[in-house]
Amino acid sequence: MYTIKSVVISLFFLVLIAWSGKVFSDSHIKLYAMDCGTLDVSDMRDFSDTGKYDGQKIKLANPCFLIRHAKGDLLWDTGYIDSMADNSNGVINGVWHSRLRVRLIDQLDQIGVSPNEIEYLSLSHLHPDHSGNANKFSDSTFIVNELERKYMFSDQIKSMFGAYYSLLEDAKTVSFKIEYDVFNDGTVLIKSMPGHTPGSSVLLIRLEKTGNVLLSGDLYIHAKGRELKTMLKYNSDKQLTIDSRKKFEALAIKESARVIIQHEKRDFDLLPKFPKFLD
Ligand SMILES: [Zn+2]
Repeated sequence: MYTIKSVVISLFFLVLIAWSGKVFSDSHIKLYAMDCGTLDVSDMRDFSDTGKYDGQKIKLANPCFLIRHAKGDLLWDTGYIDSMADNSNGVINGVWHSRLRVRLIDQLDQIGVSPNEIEYLSLSHLHPDHSGNANKFSDSTFIVNELERKYMFSDQIKSMFGAYYSLLEDAKTVSFKIEYDVFNDGTVLIKSMPGHTPGSSVLLIRLEKTGNVLLSGDLYIHAKGRELKTMLKYNSDKQLTIDSRKKFEALAIKESARVIIQHEKRDFDLLPKFPKFLD
């Protein structure tokens, strides 16, 4: 026999189960990789300070990443500036040929996200292939290593690259020294790996099905460089890069992480094609 009390208790538990199911599905983290440009290099002479790749060619990827978490969205890197897509021939600068096929804004729109809805923005480092669209995200909270912030807004660097990210100077900012736990639950961690620039960072994401993923920033530029331990000519501090690479490799082992070298075309091609995602 059903009493009113037993019906009320049953309903209570049904609601509780439904609610916990919702919480579970909402905490499901998704990692989207977007195509934010390509880079054809006609001579890899800058890829090693010992001349290892002189005369060789390479095609690089230039992705941006969106991490969707129950507590908000994090955009990791913003790629080439969207206006580059206006010219299908892209931009040639010496041996470097940059192109943008599809705008970041249009890709976000494809999954119903507008720039001012993104809660957090972080850049692996300030260079224009990573900060190109940063000014469009000045409503987001900017999470940045304190040395990188100081460097990017120094007069010299700002005069070179500031046009891409100058609005972040007055954005709501959270700066950190060693590590920052974006959602305060250990799932998405920004870690300082200086060397390429004074406050370069990498991103560790703990996904439910895929496992742990590490996004390299420009600590390495290509897979071969990781294998052969070669050093790009552009380093604000070579010894710091060497130290950071040791930390990175130890972290990758400790976390059993899938390493994604951001500019490595093969790593990008193996990721689910946007709007598909890793979870
Ligand atoms: Zn880069």
